[in-house]
Amino acid sequence: MPTDAPASAPSRGWTPGENQIDDSTPDIDDLMARLHFAPAEGRIWLDDQRMQLIHTSAMGVLRRELIESLGIERARGLLTRMGYNSGAHDAELARRLRPQAAVADMFAVGPQLHALEGMVKVDLVRQEMDIARGQYRGEFIWRHSSEDEVHVHTYGIGVEPVCWMQIGYASGYTSVFMGRPVLFREVECRATGSEHCRIIGKPVEEWDDAEDDVRYLRAQSFSSGLSTGGRGRRGAPNPETAAMFADDEIVGVSTGFNAVCHMLRCVADTDATVLFLGESGVGKEVFARTLHRISPRADKPFIAVNCAAIPENLVESELFGVEKGAFTGATASREGRFERANGGTLFLDEIGIMNLTAQGKLLRALQEREIERVGDTRVRHIDVRVVAATNLDLKAEVRAGRFREDLFYRLNVFPVKVPPLRERREDIPVLMNHFLRKFSARHRRDVTGFTPRAINALLSYELPGNIRELENMIERGVILSQHSGAIDVGQLFVSGERWDTATTTFGLDRDGHVAADDALQDSARKSGADCADREAGAVRDAIQRIEALLSDDGATHDFSLDQVAGSLERALLERAITKADGNLSAAARTLGITRSRLVYRLGNLGITTS
Ligand SMILES: [Zn+2]
Repeated sequence: MPTDAPASAPSRGWTPGENQIDDSTPDIDDLMARLHFAPAEGRIWLDDQRMQLIHTSAMGVLRRELIESLGIERARGLLTRMGYNSGAHDAELARRLRPQAAVADMFAVGPQLHALEGMVKVDLVRQEMDIARGQYRGEFIWRHSSEDEVHVHTYGIGVEPVCWMQIGYASGYTSVFMGRPVLFREVECRATGSEHCRIIGKPVEEWDDAEDDVRYLRAQSFSSGLSTGGRGRRGAPNPETAAMFADDEIVGVSTGFNAVCHMLRCVADTDATVLFLGESGVGKEVFARTLHRISPRADKPFIAVNCAAIPENLVESELFGVEKGAFTGATASREGRFERANGGTLFLDEIGIMNLTAQGKLLRALQEREIERVGDTRVRHIDVRVVAATNLDLKAEVRAGRFREDLFYRLNVFPVKVPPLRERREDIPVLMNHFLRKFSARHRRDVTGFTPRAINALLSYELPGNIRELENMIERGVILSQHSGAIDVGQLFVSGERWDTATTTFGLDRDGHVAADDALQDSARKSGADCADREAGAVRDAIQRIEALLSDDGATHDFSLDQVAGSLERALLERAITKADGNLSAAARTLGITRSRLVYRLGNLGITTS
């Protein structure tokens, strides 16, 4: 393998001194705070990325099977691109998590996350970077690489470096971070008998033989993530995905979301009628607009009609137009939505409640591609793609005689089910960021993000499936945040939404132990000097009395069971509630009782819970 030392020592930052490790890396607490375990949900989050704990031995099995079934070249390519994908995503995190940091500290997010994710310990040897000029040089030492471990376990010590996924990560991370393709190469590897691995990175065109490695980053098809999948060496978005995400309104990474996008892509270039199914508020119109935008009709009108919003007796004239004198009040001829959508797309929302007469006319428009205005005998030819949506079960409507069966079959050519948000929870963080940006701009607020508490709350909040509700909450949060940085829980949940942290999430404490997030926040907080003094006095007094009672010398003057037990109970309940930030359910859990039991006991002690 090529061993490529930097050709010429760059002027700045690239300090000589072979193995001197620069250990001035920033504290990792901010990254650890973004890692949340939600075991009741079956999810682990790294900020907005869903993560998994995978056994390295399972990765070893995968690796061996890939090598044996695909050959070493293709297996290496696949693993390199997997790593690239992870690195690219983590680079997006870096800018978000340390927006104010010096660029080197911001960059350090990558190596630190690589370590936090359990891949490898990364030591910076030296680094020089000038983002504006696109200059980058980096040299790192990798210790206890997990890839080496599994590879050597199966294949023993060999002659080629094997940290493919990790090198992909380094390239993906740095390329996205720098905004230009940077290629890392492993010039020493533990799997070849070295004490540790050593990697060197610089822009692709500065390597003489870059193609040797760049080819591993190219894939015929590699399903990409939100924005910078392992598509090609530039980390450029997959053009198809880019087109889908260019829109202001449509975002998501979940399987359910991507399935809908995939179907839209398939049907976009046809004139087929598309029927969106799904609960209200799941974003059916947004998908309909997207379908129009990626269709050949994109430069023609998109006309949306909510059938439920038009009085029943006006539906026909709204859709098909009116000829002057057709009925009293029709003082002028007027074109309907069909004519206005000519050449483009007509979106009929809530089609399930359209009356039977209008249904007949709609059927004709779909079959014959012609319409008649109300009060007119002239037939007008139209070229309109009809896209419809409903939250009703149309088959049931047909059975009930409220919906024409022939129209149902006309509309049901290409049904697309839009899943509710509760079935695509991976999209929540993406949507959170999306709405945050949108409303910060609209309301001219300088909101930096969400507090960890707010993120936890939104991730564990039982949304009824409605994106609009999430959107409203975040808009309110942005407005209420004034200019005060991050949105906190109180600004999200203000109008009595049910926020019960029934799903406890867990993070890492400073020693790397998993602990409930509530507890972490508390230990971080000054341990409540506020009301603690008063409580502490009462508790001390109660304990003294108990000790006196239990001791042998029996000085038990004026002992009162009610008073002592009451003081202790009051102190414990108040403490638990304070620790839970007033969340009674969480406080009850701390105390090992039910919420209603807690409320009952508080009532007995004369503490109101409003
Ligand atoms: Zn290695």
